[in-house]
Amino acid sequence: MTGLAGRVYLVGGGPGDPELLTLRAVHLLQKAEVVVYDHLVSSAVLDFVSSTAERIYAGKRRNEHTMRQEQINGLLVKLARDGKQVVRLKGGDPFIFGRGGEELQALAAQGIAFEVVPGVTAASGVSSYAGIPLTHRDYAQSCLFVTGHLKDGSADLDWHNLVRPAQTVVIYMGLGGLPEICRQLMAHGAPPSRPIAVVQDGSIATQRVVTGTLADMPEKVLQAGLRSPSLTIIGEVVRLHDALAWFNPLATEATATVRC
Ligand code: SAH
Repeated sequence: MTGLAGRVYLVGGGPGDPELLTLRAVHLLQKAEVVVYDHLVSSAVLDFVSSTAERIYAGKRRNEHTMRQEQINGLLVKLARDGKQVVRLKGGDPFIFGRGGEELQALAAQGIAFEVVPGVTAASGVSSYAGIPLTHRDYAQSCLFVTGHLKDGSADLDWHNLVRPAQTVVIYMGLGGLPEICRQLMAHGAPPSRPIAVVQDGSIATQRVVTGTLADMPEKVLQAGLRSPSLTIIGEVVRLHDALAWFNPLATEATATVRC
């Protein structure tokens, strides 16, 4: 990709398994001159970046903001002004808890050309690999995506809305605040027996799924030693995990060997 005018491609890298990349994402990763990526992007996805492309790590791990958001915005503007074809690569989908909108606003304000390539967001990819359908005619007619990132230890969430029956709640960035989230949901009327799952590293070899109830989940997660990135799924659909879990990375490896 060469040319006078620089352009920024805001690309979703999916939840981790590179097979979930879109064709457009793969095409752009192979043609990019510069790739600016976040920590959530899996190493297997980065393997698709052209060997000649410059790679810039923008960080964004919680509590470890390697580059401030304004610095990232400024970097993208500068690279595009230098005439570069830039891929801004994010985990999941760039428009879902990804600050993709903020970065595009900065580019638009400077008259920089851009495109957006959606990715499989964690809610979709991680729940699929955990065998937990987000909706099901018997269990959930709607699904909410919320962030559980707590400010000063308390989450400013619409708890009354989150405790409704017959819906699934997916919480991004909710691991640290899990005890408070479970406590608030029960305080706002959710039954302590409501099923909940926490999935770490969804769609990659280190995936772990822990299921329980609002009452016992904080302790279970502590015992299991789950770490970030983890996605929380709350609702009756979690009951389906036992019957529908299909992704066992080790078993998948063995199956793949047989198929070859
Ligand atoms: N834009 C991303 C979300 C960024 S917020 C997307 O669309 O998926 C980061 C949060 O996403 C993490 O804290 C975690 O809650 C969730 N997440 C992303 N990838 C994940 C994965 N592979 N497994 C579990 N959770 C994941």
